[in-house]
Amino acid sequence: MTPKRSPRRVAVLSVHTSPLEQPGTGDAGGMNVYIAQTAKRMADRGIAVEVFTRATSSDLPPVAELAPGVTVRHIVAGPFEGLAKDELPGQLCAFTAGVLRAEAHHEPGYYDVVHSHYWLSGQVGWLARERWGVPLVHTAHTLAKVKNAALAEGDTPEPRMRVIGEEQVVAEADRLVANTDVEAGELVSLYDADPTKVLTVPPGVDLGRFAPGSQAAARVALDLPLDAIVLTFVGRIQPLKAPDVLLRAAASLLVSQPELRSRLVVVVVGGPSGSGLEQPKALQELAVELGILDVVRFMPPQRGEALAQVYRAADVVAVPSHNESFGLVALEAQACGTPVVAAAVGGLPIAVVDDVTGRLVGDHNPANWARVLGDVALHPSLREEFARNAVGHARRFSWDRTTDALLDGYADARRDFLSEVRRREVTV
Ligand code: UDP
Repeated sequence: MTPKRSPRRVAVLSVHTSPLEQPGTGDAGGMNVYIAQTAKRMADRGIAVEVFTRATSSDLPPVAELAPGVTVRHIVAGPFEGLAKDELPGQLCAFTAGVLRAEAHHEPGYYDVVHSHYWLSGQVGWLARERWGVPLVHTAHTLAKVKNAALAEGDTPEPRMRVIGEEQVVAEADRLVANTDVEAGELVSLYDADPTKVLTVPPGVDLGRFAPGSQAAARVALDLPLDAIVLTFVGRIQPLKAPDVLLRAAASLLVSQPELRSRLVVVVVGGPSGSGLEQPKALQELAVELGILDVVRFMPPQRGEALAQVYRAADVVAVPSHNESFGLVALEAQACGTPVVAAAVGGLPIAVVDDVTGRLVGDHNPANWARVLGDVALHPSLREEFARNAVGHARRFSWDRTTDALLDGYADARRDFLSEVRRREVTV
């Protein structure tokens, strides 16, 4: 059997969003964080990483450095601005041509593996695999069939074109990386993936950035009252993430406990996302309709230490998503010592340990959410117990571990790929 060999040079495909973008708005979210964090750690291990992404502005340089050893190549494919994600399938040929042209600057056989993220990139990776003679490792991040089964009101179903595109990538990839065993199972049961090609690699959390700290100091930094009851949502504002459930739950809490009105603050951090970019406005209108605009505070997407302070300032971080392949926000909040109340969907039951680091809610009923949020936020001893456990739980996840597992997957894919190539050579 051909021995495993670690790759030295990795091509990463991220067609629709760049790891250089601010996550928490538009199409930028956990996938961007995932790519940036794992690429940096691969570079720390001496591996050269090149990330290919679509150029979304004429101001972008053709090549940029994300970190030492991590290059981002901006590929021109279609108009720079004003192209929605659902229009990108029509630009995949242009994007692929740009990727192949960029690779031609290197010596032949430069990359050892190509790792595509999301189905659009998978389509490009499929061709790059053939052309470069290297294995394709693919991470779906979300799956159309799963998403369509859990649509939020106002959400548009994922088109058949995406389902077919995903099925093709699943059939062609040498390895499929799932965030959780549940997702691994979905790849097999819904997409007919070969189970021997599926590996589960849990994502991580930046423990250097997201660490416990003083809630009081965080509240001072954010200009929030020290005695407030702070319920926080962090993420892209779109129906799938269900920030409306938090608002409705807050309204319900105020009906049952009107005396909380002077202390309750609902913080909503994030920017518009999805095809209708008016969601934050819709959320503000909902707050007016519910009569709680005075208790809701909207904040634009935050980064770095400012985001860590948002988590620390909260009594509870709510993750009411209708679907979530993992839910990095839940891990980050816990790493900062804040309990999480999350919907029991997708990867969230792994990110949050029910009744240990927070609570899982089995539906999206605002009255139930109000009860559970109140149980945690209004009972200091329970909140503190969850907070302590949350820090320990989050520490079990790290981007270093994610990176090691990915590199192992790359090496396995390479070994199988090379032995298949040799087998064919012998047969010929
Ligand atoms: N995020 C951020 N600033 C914000 C809101 C979100 O940097 O204002 C980041 C957040 O830290 C997390 C990612 O965006 O790492 C969201 O990932 P998650 O898995 O929770 O959701 P996704 O966006 O992938 O659906």
